Formats: sequence, structure tokens, C-alpha cells
Amino acid sequence: MGYIKKEFRKKLEIIDSRVNEFPENWKNFVQEIRKNHNLIIKRKGKSICTNCKHEFITNKKVNKYQKCPNCKNTYLIKSAHLKKFWFRDNLILLDKVEKDIVFRYFQMWSAYDNRSMNYEFIDSVVEFARIFHKRDIEVVNDRVSRCQCHIYVSHLINPGKWREYTRNYSFGKSGYLYTGNLKEIFKDTDYKYLDLRDFAKRVGTMDYERLLRCKSHYPSFEMLIKLKLYKLALYADRFGNYGNFNKIFGVSKEFYPFMKRYDITYSQLQMLRLLKQKDMHKVRYLDNFDEYSFDTLKKISDYIGIDNFIKYQKMHKGKVNIHIYKDYLEFASQMGFDLKNKRYKFPDDLNKRHNELEKSVEIRNRELLNEAIAKRLELLNKNSYKDKKFIIFAAKSIEDLEDESMQQGNCVRTYAKDYAFGKSDIYFMRLINAKDKSLVTVEVKDNVVIQSKTKYNREPEKKQLKFLEKWQKNILQKCYI
Ligand SMILES: [Zn+2]
Repeated sequence: MGYIKKEFRKKLEIIDSRVNEFPENWKNFVQEIRKNHNLIIKRKGKSICTNCKHEFITNKKVNKYQKCPNCKNTYLIKSAHLKKFWFRDNLILLDKVEKDIVFRYFQMWSAYDNRSMNYEFIDSVVEFARIFHKRDIEVVNDRVSRCQCHIYVSHLINPGKWREYTRNYSFGKSGYLYTGNLKEIFKDTDYKYLDLRDFAKRVGTMDYERLLRCKSHYPSFEMLIKLKLYKLALYADRFGNYGNFNKIFGVSKEFYPFMKRYDITYSQLQMLRLLKQKDMHKVRYLDNFDEYSFDTLKKISDYIGIDNFIKYQKMHKGKVNIHIYKDYLEFASQMGFDLKNKRYKFPDDLNKRHNELEKSVEIRNRELLNEAIAKRLELLNKNSYKDKKFIIFAAKSIEDLEDESMQQGNCVRTYAKDYAFGKSDIYFMRLINAKDKSLVTVEVKDNVVIQSKTKYNREPEKKQLKFLEKWQKNILQKCYI
């Protein structure tokens, strides 16, 4: 925590001098947030709402939420034995000094202490931090102290002096934003067209300073807020703001009222793109799979359509493992099965069918690779070569590569694909009187030996290298000179 430059110290003093000049609706705003800091106290017979003191009977259990039938607010239920309880929330007020927008952080602390049995909260709101927006200056006052990895705000002491806050961990910048004065504050700034009122109401507590710093330079941020797609505005960086609706959102414009009504999130939009139906029930259902499942669902959808996936899940009480199902569909499609046919689309025993098909695909891929290798051999056989001691010839099959790997303790078998598709050529160099016994494994690219290894990836001996040099010069490169 360090020294504050004179420029900023002056500005802090200006704000301090306005200490009693809060915007006219600030009190109402505080009052609204304060309403959240209440409980339903469950007693024998009638329970009581700490907000309005209304007494009523609830069947719900402790630690569940209950709507008060009188004030209509929903609160957590706690037992009458509860002695102490408290809520903390940050409130954010924007201020402006010269051209600097300053975020002012207030903590609201509400404490429940039932020793006097009056079921009441007392609360306190104090300012404890300020941020000069986009200037990288954060300050805190004497109320702030460190408590392990968190900061603690004392409500009992005077604010004292401001000091720079330079700790690695944040002081907890999320809070409720007061929007009553934003028009005034944003006047003559980059934010002059930005109306955050509905957004703040919808989104509630969040790190607004960071939001503006990180998202507001995306032109799409303002556009999304104007469109009242508030939750998508949080992902403004993922949207362009040019082209038609379909280009921006990946769904046609007829979905807009639906998207707005549910204020959909980014992952819900992804699901909507797959589904292309105005059915929030289905969107939420798909969105319930873990956050990494989108690509998997997309592939499943490409194979059979997303409705078929939902149908199949229902047939199996939602217990279908989507990753196994996706793999199964991939195998089935590779094997040329008709996925319009229910028998293939909706296998009874998915795991069993998956494993069977996995094997078939493996065998089939092996056959395909061996066919490709056989074709390559027609080309590479002419490079076979021998002298009195050694012989060298191209690998003839996957089995050949596997055998070489076993004998040599190397990984040449993993080259099968590259070999089959002509990305590299694999040759075996052996003694002429022991052609079945591995000696040197050789990789060739563009008619040049790029790797030659004996058992356990050791370098070949001199006379072996000499043979390879001779082979490269006389055979591999000869035809091309
Ligand atoms: Zn109430």
C-alpha cells in the first residue's frame, strides 16, 4: 500500500468534500438493497419475516427459501435458535472529478442479533474504496484491514486517510450499481449512449468497473444492451456488431423476441443455435450438460438432429453418456450405417454397441491402412537394395511395423498412418543372411534418410551408416537426377 500522487490526492479531497452530497435517490437505492438483508425465522407455530414482521405458517425447512406472503420478498429460512447472522454487500456509486470517473465502493453490513428477541437487523453503510476508472489507481481508507487473504471492512472506525491499494488480491469489487446519476456522469464520455439502468437491475451485483473497462470497447456491448440482451452483453467480445441478425447471433431474427424474453445466456444461445426452436424448456435441458459438452452435442446434432438426441435421452431416462453416444454415432457413420434407421440411431445397449463398433472400425481402418500401404509398396519396392552384407526394403504392412517395433523397442508402429498416406517412408535394413531379424529402422522423407536407429533407438554403427549413404546416393536419389 503506497503513496498517492498529488493529482489523485487532490481529486480524492474534492470527493471527500462532497461527503454529504449524495444523489437524491441514493437513499431509496440503499433501502432497496437493505430489503434483501432479511430472513424468515422459523418458530414453533408461526414463523416471522424480519422485513415486515408478518407472522405466518410455513412447511418449508430451515435453509430453504420462502416467499413472505405479506411483503412478497423471498428470504432464507433460519431457526428461532439462531443467535447471530449477517449479510454484506457492496454498493457502487459513480462520481466524477474533472474528467475522471471514480467508482466509490460502500459496504452494507446488516447484522441480526436476537438477544432482545425482536427479530431485527441493524445495518450500517460505509465507504471503503475508490477506483479511478481506466487510470489503474485503486485506493482504500483506514477502515480496510487485511484478514488472511480477504480484506475486512470495519464499520466502527473513521475513514482516515486514503492509501493506494496494491495487493495481489482484489478487494471484492462486485456490488450493486446506483444508476440514478449515470446520465450525468457519462455525459461527454465514451459511455454517453450507454444506458445501464435495466442492465443493472437485471444483472444485480457484479464488477461494473471491470465490465466497463473490458467490455465497453466492444461496439457490440452497447448494441446488446440496447437490444435488452443483458446476459449476452457480458460476452460482448464474442459478438461482432455488423452484418444482419443471423450473422451476429447465428440464429434468424425471428428468435429475437424469444431471446429477449428469457434474457438468454451465451451458452443458452449456443444451444438455441443447435435447436432452432423457441422452446426454453429444451434450451435449458441441453444447457444442463456440463459446459464442455457443446462440441459433443453439436456433433451428435450433425449426425441425427438434436431432437433425436433428446428423444433418445428420454428413452433412457436421461442416462445416456453423451460422449459415448457421440463416439458411437461417429463409428456407425464410418461403417456406413443408415442413421435414419431407428435400429442404428437408437441402440438398445449403447455401451455394448459402442464397443463392438469400435472394434469393427479398428479392423476396418487397419484394412484400409494396409490397402494404402500395399499401394505405396508398388512405388517403394524399386528402392530395395543389397550388397554382400546388408539388405534394405520398405515395410510391407502394419503387422510388419508392429513386428519391427517389438524387436527394436521403438515406436515405428505409430508411423503406420503417415506411412500409408505418404508422409514418410519406412524401411528396414537387415543382414542379408538374417532377413527376419531387425537391425536398423530407417525413415525417409523426400528421398533423404532422416532417421536411422538400431535397437532401443541407438545410433547405427559406422559400416551400417555407410551402407545407408551408399543406398541414398545410388538408389533413392539416382532416379531424380
Ligand atoms: Zn415480509
